[in-house]
Amino acid sequence: MSLIKSISGIRGTIGGRAGDGLNPVDIAKFTAAYATFIKRSSGAKKGTIVVGRDARLSGRMVNDVVVGTLCGMGLDVVNIGLATTPTTELAVVGENALGGIIITASHNPKHWNALKLLNARGEFLDAEQGQQVLALAEADDFDFAEVDDLGHEYTNNTYAARHIRSVLDLRLVDVEAIRNAHFRVAVDAVNSVGGVVIPQLLRALGVEEVIELNCEPTGKFAHTPEPIPENLTGISELMATGVADVAFVVDPDVDRLAIIMEDGRMFGEEYTLVSIADYVLSHTPGNTVSNLSSSRALRDVTEAHGGKYEAAAVGEVNVTTLMRKNGAVIGGEGNGGVIYPESHYGRDALVGVALFLTMMAKSGKKVSEIRAALPSYYIAKTKVELTPDIDVDAILERVKEKFANERLTTIDGVKIDFADSWVHLRKSNTEPIIRIYSEAHTREEAEALGEKIKQELK
Ligand code: MG
Repeated sequence: MSLIKSISGIRGTIGGRAGDGLNPVDIAKFTAAYATFIKRSSGAKKGTIVVGRDARLSGRMVNDVVVGTLCGMGLDVVNIGLATTPTTELAVVGENALGGIIITASHNPKHWNALKLLNARGEFLDAEQGQQVLALAEADDFDFAEVDDLGHEYTNNTYAARHIRSVLDLRLVDVEAIRNAHFRVAVDAVNSVGGVVIPQLLRALGVEEVIELNCEPTGKFAHTPEPIPENLTGISELMATGVADVAFVVDPDVDRLAIIMEDGRMFGEEYTLVSIADYVLSHTPGNTVSNLSSSRALRDVTEAHGGKYEAAAVGEVNVTTLMRKNGAVIGGEGNGGVIYPESHYGRDALVGVALFLTMMAKSGKKVSEIRAALPSYYIAKTKVELTPDIDVDAILERVKEKFANERLTTIDGVKIDFADSWVHLRKSNTEPIIRIYSEAHTREEAEALGEKIKQELK
């Protein structure tokens, strides 16, 4: 059983003894703290919070506690029901709400759930705001509404359609071109909300044939939900039989997008953002941002189009903050998270699907040909287990000294940029480990670099 309270919200497993997992008592407490934060920071006594949830089995239970608590705090709720993370973000803006709560544990397995907390722009709270919510929860510092001031719940199930409409209306999405390409497209949505919304989007985009795998939003995840190669054997084998031009895989809350090529091979999660950025930049030149652990291929593609690339600390809010500062036209995370400000500042797999299909249609190329034209890199991931006696900060200091002559970035752990490769060391927030990510032009070089640094640490 696990319960993790952090600046990015509350996350845990369902079931177990009080204090052990994500239970109704902690959910109510944390929701009351969030409501208090929203009321105090906005100065509003009344207002609306949007609530959406992915399809996981505990979603309804968590929803009922969250909605009841918000009403008990005197806030109205617009409940959009089963919804993706980006749909909920857009609904916050659409409802002119004070904030939003998304009930999802993202790519975690079915026994997990979590609350993702949004501000009035439909974007994640930053670290400082998350800290305030945490402190309010710890201190039980909240007042509930009197009987005449209780909030009300309203339901609104129009936001999936409005989200799809907004994607279709994007300047760089060309429905006509997609329709004329007569695409056959497969989808694996791991039996969560993507199973409804992605096929709807594909049909609205004019895809000729949609092949659905795990598209029943039952919350019974058909495989481990994180969209990484080892979990995607089913859709990969299906694609190897030549049934479709491309396959899209999303995580349970549809903010990460993985692509499978027409022959069943992985496009590579790092390359979702890189390829879509290449397309966007070819029409709207400008800057890009991703996080320090994402592929350098984005830098190469950005510079080839005359723009400037910069890396942010890991965490979506860090990426969007830097994107705003640098006026980035596109950005995101190497794990398949595409952020396209012309739509909104949040990772959005629907936007990714529509831009990718437009690029495919306009180029007339197979997915494997698109992939082959991009800069070739490989990221290796390894880790060092920590024992309580290890002083991580001292170790990272020593690494900095040793590589003082290289290009170092120290905003989030230590990243060392070499001419043809990089390595990024950071302490995990959730496990007692140091993560070591290394990238080079080939798998062998990347793994050797990671191993070398690992030995140095030891
Ligand atoms: Mg997610």
